[in-house]
Amino acid sequence: MRRLMVAGNWKMHGTRSSVAELLKGLKSQEFSATVEVAVFPAFLHISEAVEALRGSGIAVGAQDLATQSAPGALTGEVAASQLMDAGCSLVLIGHSERRQVIGEDESVLVAKFKAAQEVGLVPVLCVGETLAEREAERTLEVVGSQLDSIIDALGVEVFTRAVIAYEPVWAIGTGLTATPEQAQDVHKAIRDKLAARNAEVAQGVRLLYGGSVKAANAADLFRMPDIDGGLIGGAALNADEFGAICRAAGS
Ligand code: PEP
Repeated sequence: MRRLMVAGNWKMHGTRSSVAELLKGLKSQEFSATVEVAVFPAFLHISEAVEALRGSGIAVGAQDLATQSAPGALTGEVAASQLMDAGCSLVLIGHSERRQVIGEDESVLVAKFKAAQEVGLVPVLCVGETLAEREAERTLEVVGSQLDSIIDALGVEVFTRAVIAYEPVWAIGTGLTATPEQAQDVHKAIRDKLAARNAEVAQGVRLLYGGSVKAANAADLFRMPDIDGGLIGGAALNADEFGAICRAAGS
C-alpha cells in the first residue's frame, strides 16, 4: 500500500515575514497521518522552515541541488550534503521551469538525481509534456523518454528511493488541470513502463500529479488508482488551501 504524499513547491516566492506567516498557518492545519506532507521553500527559507516545522511531521525539501553531492569550489551552488545537513529529506529534480527556462538537460538531471541519492535525499523527479506535444499525441513518448534518461543511466531500482511527479507543462500555473482520467492514463503508463523492468519497483513508487491542483479538484484526482498524491504550486502558498488539499488526500 503506497502512502499518499502532498508536496508544496513554493518556487521563488516569499519574504521572511510571509514565509513565517505561511509556516504558522501550516502548523495550525489538521493533517491525516495517512498522508506524507512536504514543502519545498526557496534555499533562503529552508532553515526557517526546518526549525518551524520540527515535530510537525511536515518534511522539508529543496527545489534544486548541485550536480556534485559533496561541498566544494562551485560558486552559487548548493550541495546535496549541505541540504541534508540543513534538515532536508527531499529534492525536486527536472521541474519544467528548470528544464525549459534554465535549460537543464537530461545529463544534468541524471547527475542531480545521482547526487541526491548518494547522500540519502529522496529525489522527486518531475516529468511532463508541453501542450504542443500533447496535441501531437506525443505525451507518452515524451514522458517515457524523460524516465528513460534516469533508467538507462542509473537503473530502474533507483525508483525504490524516489518519487515521480507527472506535471503536464500546459497545466502548471495556468488554471488548466488534466482531467482525472487524462492524468490516470499517464500515471498508469508510467507504472506499466517501470513494471516492464521491475514489477516491485513499479508497485511501490509514488506517482504524484501536479498542475493547477486546488482543494476543489484534489479529491477527484487523488481518487484515481495510480495517482498517489500531488505536487502543488500556487495553491501551496495558502496554508488553508494547502491544508484542504492534504485533507482531500487523506479522505
Ligand atoms: C508546479 O509548479 O509544480 C505546479 C504544479 O504549479 P501549479 O500548482 O501552480 O500549477
